[in-house]
Amino acid sequence: MKQKLDIETLMAHYAEDRAAYHGAVVPPIFQNSLFTFESWDAIDKAFDDRVNSYIYSRGGNPSVNMAEAKIAKIAGGERAKLFGSGMAAISAALLHFLAPGDHVITVKSIYGPANNLLNDYLRRKMNIQTTYVAGTEVDEFEAAITEKTKVIYLESPSSAIFSLQDIKAITQFAKSRKIHTIIDNTWATPIFQKPLNMGVDLEVHSCSKYLGGHSDVVAGVVIGNEKDIAEITVNEYEILGGKMAPFEAWLIMRSLRTLPIRMRTHQENAMKVARFLESHPKVRQVKYPGLESFPQYALGKKQMSGYSGLMSFELDTDNLKTIKHFFNSLKIFQIGVSWGGHESLIYAPAISYLKELPEEQFKDMGISLGNMRLSIGLESSDDLIRDLKEALSTT
Ligand SMILES: *Cc1c(COP(=O)(O)O)cnc(C)c1O
Repeated sequence: MKQKLDIETLMAHYAEDRAAYHGAVVPPIFQNSLFTFESWDAIDKAFDDRVNSYIYSRGGNPSVNMAEAKIAKIAGGERAKLFGSGMAAISAALLHFLAPGDHVITVKSIYGPANNLLNDYLRRKMNIQTTYVAGTEVDEFEAAITEKTKVIYLESPSSAIFSLQDIKAITQFAKSRKIHTIIDNTWATPIFQKPLNMGVDLEVHSCSKYLGGHSDVVAGVVIGNEKDIAEITVNEYEILGGKMAPFEAWLIMRSLRTLPIRMRTHQENAMKVARFLESHPKVRQVKYPGLESFPQYALGKKQMSGYSGLMSFELDTDNLKTIKHFFNSLKIFQIGVSWGGHESLIYAPAISYLKELPEEQFKDMGISLGNMRLSIGLESSDDLIRDLKEALSTT
């Protein structure tokens, strides 16, 4: 047998101790709040190593730990900690490195609620200052550094406009300046991008997207080295209490078994849809890192081994009535936020952004009224393309 097992095999079997639960091929759900001990000394010893002991499920739980072990394995990290949501994971990662008065550098296209956390909540509560850069050039980060810069927070590709950051170059230079790096890797998943191998300190995901993949779980994860994750476990996880539920961890473990095969199909379907849209006369532009026409195609090719299923395109009209008509005409694509599930979705950023941002700032992001965001699911690509073709023909 070869020394290293492939990811598909590991996701099927890694971290599962079937002999310990009667050989059941799927592990039971450890749906318990606490763990009992045989003696004073036994529970006393458990407290001495609380990160690796089961005492109370706000700290550790076997169902949660099993899923964490699999996630750490695919991401190439030493350890992972699951949280009750992606935002709980992002908050924990940032708070782990930050102290009052620190400075953060991030990208303008950062996920909205993460932006609110930095630019509003942490600014008000902890006097954390944040500088925003486009992020396409390493120099921009360098120029934004102050003596208080503690964290560079990346999101590559960004889930709003899919722009990339040069992960290797940025982490290399951050390390030389003793600045920590965090990346939101939700778009690419650990199947297609391994930021920890490129020198990033902490990788975060919303597991509500591809890692969960079935649109039935809200969860998040932080992955990193043993020391950082152990500290996050006894601090941000246990004290702030945004814990992961055993049942939801069990659902994620179910999802991880099919993550490699799902990502292959998301990629295949998304490439076909992107090429179809790119060739359609009623489409102005398609934004998808897998297309050769994508401005940062070369960088994507260098640091990712594939592309997931989230993209956007711009209808060749600014007429709201026509845009709404197209949007409402789709039959297979469902209307909804979020992404990364088995089902294909459409959403128009204008719907929520225009409620939160002045129109100027909205346009500044390079997003127009006719910008349509698609999450390409696991349905037949022929059916998806036909659905889009028919809706486009009515505009
Ligand atoms: C959804 C999302 C999050 C937040 O995750 P939740 O599980 O909804 O809290 C963070 N980052 C990105 C890129 C996302 O799309």
